[in-house]
Amino acid sequence: MYDIKNYHRADNISHAVALLEKNPTARLLAGGTDVLIQLHHLNSHFEHIIDIHDLPELRGIQCDQAGNIRIASGTTFNELINHPIAQQHLPALVEAASMIAGPQIRNVATFGGNICNGAPSADSACPSLIYDATLEIASPEGSRYTSINGFHTGPGKVALAANEILTAFHFKAENYRDKGAASFKYAMRDAMDIATIGCSALCDIKQGKFQQLKLAFAVAAPTPIRCKHAEEAARGQPLTRQTLVTIGKAVSHDVSPRTSWRAEKEFRLHLIHTLTERVINVAVMRAGGEII
Ligand SMILES: Cc1cc2nc3c(=O)[nH]c(=O)nc-3n(C[C@H](O)[C@H](O)[C@H](O)COP(=O)(O)OP(=O)(O)OC[C@H]3O[C@@H](n4cnc5c(N)ncnc54)[C@H](O)[C@@H]3O)c2cc1C
Repeated sequence: MYDIKNYHRADNISHAVALLEKNPTARLLAGGTDVLIQLHHLNSHFEHIIDIHDLPELRGIQCDQAGNIRIASGTTFNELINHPIAQQHLPALVEAASMIAGPQIRNVATFGGNICNGAPSADSACPSLIYDATLEIASPEGSRYTSINGFHTGPGKVALAANEILTAFHFKAENYRDKGAASFKYAMRDAMDIATIGCSALCDIKQGKFQQLKLAFAVAAPTPIRCKHAEEAARGQPLTRQTLVTIGKAVSHDVSPRTSWRAEKEFRLHLIHTLTERVINVAVMRAGGEII
């Protein structure tokens, strides 16, 4: 049924890196929910497989005493959604993860696979961007760390060398503590559908003003993006409807959605403006404020 030419089962992370070194054209298989579709489509780039599914080192969520959270890349979305640390501190990530596919897929699909697959529609990308996740990557030289902001380089492309593995996501306390965050997804169906537009917002408010806004969109450009113009337009502004209008105008300079069989560009632009207001409203409420 599947056109697999070579299959290697990794025993641990270093073994997986060594196997990648030896087989530079091989693809990692985590939950396999994207890889097996590619194989089914007889995509020749997926014929050589290195299986990292269920490696204990790639599972689990921990929080240190300072509140810094580490989520191993092979953590499934169901594990993430049901984990008290994620529920308490990373609500926008849990919200987005809960909207992925259906329960069966969420039981096997991993957070790392969703990001490394590089799809512009990946539901976990926007919350990772607004929480400024740091990625821990294993390579033959050891571990390196890089920001999720800039990791997506094009549709289906991420800044990962052929011999590297994403091992974990780090969420620093300073990037979520005392802030409000939310995620929204618009899809044509309520379940088992890829986002027509997805978004996340995080805000820090002081004395009735936006101290900081972080806003991210999926399917609004060739990669998931942060909206720098919109974020700048919010800085220091009061929590009013007029500020939301200003942010909404600025967001037009950040996005470049396209027409596809799923939706027209114009409809996506309409969704972007509507969701900008909604997601910021909820993020502000969760930060203890109110748009008046
Ligand atoms: C029916 C269905 C519905 C879906 N609905 C949604 C949806 O609503 N929203 C959504 O965002 N996605 C959806 N998906 C896509 C998919 O489930 C996710 O992208 C999933 O999170 C991928 O994770 P995985 O563990 O299955 O990855 P895999 O398929 O194992 O791998 C995906 C890619 O990432 C690479 N990779 C995996 N792990 C690592 C790692 N640790 N380091 C480096 N590279 C790695 C693989 O080599 C491969 O290129 C859906 C898929 C299906 C089949």
